[in-house]
Amino acid sequence: MCDALEHTDACGSNRRRFLRTAGAAAALGLLGPGLFAPLARADALTKAQRDKMTPEQIIEAMKKGNERFRRGERHDRNYLREQKASAKGQYPAAVLLSCIDSRAPAEVIMDLGIGDIFNCRVAGNIENADILGSMEFACKVAGAKVVLVMGHTACGAIKGAIDNAELGNLTGLLGKIKPAVDATAYSGERTATNYGFVDAVAHTNVQMTVSNIRKHSAVLAEMETQGAITLSGAIYNLETGGIEFIK
Ligand SMILES: [Zn+2]
Repeated sequence: MCDALEHTDACGSNRRRFLRTAGAAAALGLLGPGLFAPLARADALTKAQRDKMTPEQIIEAMKKGNERFRRGERHDRNYLREQKASAKGQYPAAVLLSCIDSRAPAEVIMDLGIGDIFNCRVAGNIENADILGSMEFACKVAGAKVVLVMGHTACGAIKGAIDNAELGNLTGLLGKIKPAVDATAYSGERTATNYGFVDAVAHTNVQMTVSNIRKHSAVLAEMETQGAITLSGAIYNLETGGIEFIK
């Protein structure tokens, strides 16, 4: 993971060379699950592989996947094989809460595959009871070990909250972002046209959402206290393609 979330092309000389290296490393007791997983895992995470990973390894795998994305690289995956391998069961490593923005698809920007993560999406990546229920299922029932709230730069929902935009049901949604607008300390112009401010609010919004998840979900808060899961935040930069992980 983590190389464990990485789907590898399991043939050719690279594999044979890796097998020799892996064999030697295993004999020396050096192989952690994250290093060995790419060999054992052709198309989808197994329960055993996911269960061996720590939350830190899972976050590390997401970071590595995003680095590949930024370099214009991705694993040679076969979605049809992933679909077939995961059809009878799923063992995702994480549950994400991200914005609906069409430019921020988590699996693509982290180079992940089918079955790797649960993905909740709502404008402005705010939590509510239904999303918390989904996360509780993901972690407590299905075994995911990371809850990641991912906002992004130049977020339209954040701009709408700053501008007090009103439209049908959107008004209520933006109302859930407004506390982050008020809580953001910023010395410059506090407007939706100032991207510095918009991104500062997005940062605050992620932190407040992570905090709200702890506050409103006793199930997840207890799991975090026990060390079973990690709650974390991140900001995806639409310009650079990079993901900044924040606590
Ligand atoms: Zn957005």
